[in-house]
Amino acid sequence: MPLKSTLTEFIIGEHRKYSQATGGFTALLNDIQLACKRIAHLIGKGALAGVHGAAAGENVQGERQMKLDVMANDIFLRTNEWGGHLAAMVSEELEAVCQIPAQYPRGRYLLAFDPLDGSSNIDVNVAVGSIFSVLRCAEGVTEATAQDFLQPGTEQVCAGYAIYGPTTMLVLTLGHGVYGFTLDREIGEFILSHPDLRIPAETSEFAINASNERFWEPPVKRYISECLAGRSGPRGKDFNMRWIASFVAEVHRILMRGGLFMYPKDNKDPAKAGRLRLLYEANPMAYLVEQAGGAASTGRTRILEAAPEGLHQRVPVILGSKAEVERIARYHGEYDRGVDQPFTSPLFNTRSLFVQQ
Ligand code: MN
Ligand code: MN
Repeated sequence: MPLKSTLTEFIIGEHRKYSQATGGFTALLNDIQLACKRIAHLIGKGALAGVHGAAAGENVQGERQMKLDVMANDIFLRTNEWGGHLAAMVSEELEAVCQIPAQYPRGRYLLAFDPLDGSSNIDVNVAVGSIFSVLRCAEGVTEATAQDFLQPGTEQVCAGYAIYGPTTMLVLTLGHGVYGFTLDREIGEFILSHPDLRIPAETSEFAINASNERFWEPPVKRYISECLAGRSGPRGKDFNMRWIASFVAEVHRILMRGGLFMYPKDNKDPAKAGRLRLLYEANPMAYLVEQAGGAASTGRTRILEAAPEGLHQRVPVILGSKAEVERIARYHGEYDRGVDQPFTSPLFNTRSLFVQQ
């Protein structure tokens, strides 16, 4: 049986092919994958290790923090701070930039991460994950500040996530396609199992939190009502809906078999432009999705070109199969120019929750 490549082997191979990365970069990715393995181990123990349940406090964004949010954050920090490859880190769980402790050397990369995504799903044993994004730190910076992290997603050196599901997988892009690795627990290595993942351009599956329907903008209502009208509506085909409420799991499904995910702008809380965070959720996932042939948009701009204004900035996210993302972006454009044609089905006006307004 031919041996399949490990993640480390793959990274070194890519480095040789494109010579865009340094040995330090390979070592950094080794630390990131170790952090993911440590978190996978802890999550796998679950209630046996007493790691379920809520932590004492809230995170910097006023969200309920689970014990595992705190532990996973600590694992990410401790596993990545010592190697000498990072100039600084930012995390969903920390208000400010996390500096590298004085006893360790500093490097030229910046790491932004969501240590545990979908953590509200932990206690019900649904897939959760860790998301990461690596940027370059500008030359000559000795103490990285928030400003150094505010680079558009197009500047990412690499991005990926680990998903802790029935199997643990790490999915990665270094800017030349998307590769999936499955954790072999016996030998403790991520093994290349899904080379060159591609998202089909077409889909008939979408994922959205429909309980927010009354807060959506008209172009989103238009798109969803057209999907729900199915075969007899303007799309001429039936759609299926999915909602896992774990961003990593939604993106993973789309990378495996196509589909569309939306957490669009809504007017539920006008202070928030969207739900997901640009630097450590939207940007890394947008990079992966684009590298797999899909598209990622806020509805009005390509996510990777959005200029970040703050470490914890939120953005609307519409990503997945390219034809669907482009259609929704077109609906936003038509609405903004006042030339949209909302779909109104008499059937839906009387019978469905999804009423056009
Ligand atoms: Mn998250
Ligand atoms: Mn999180």
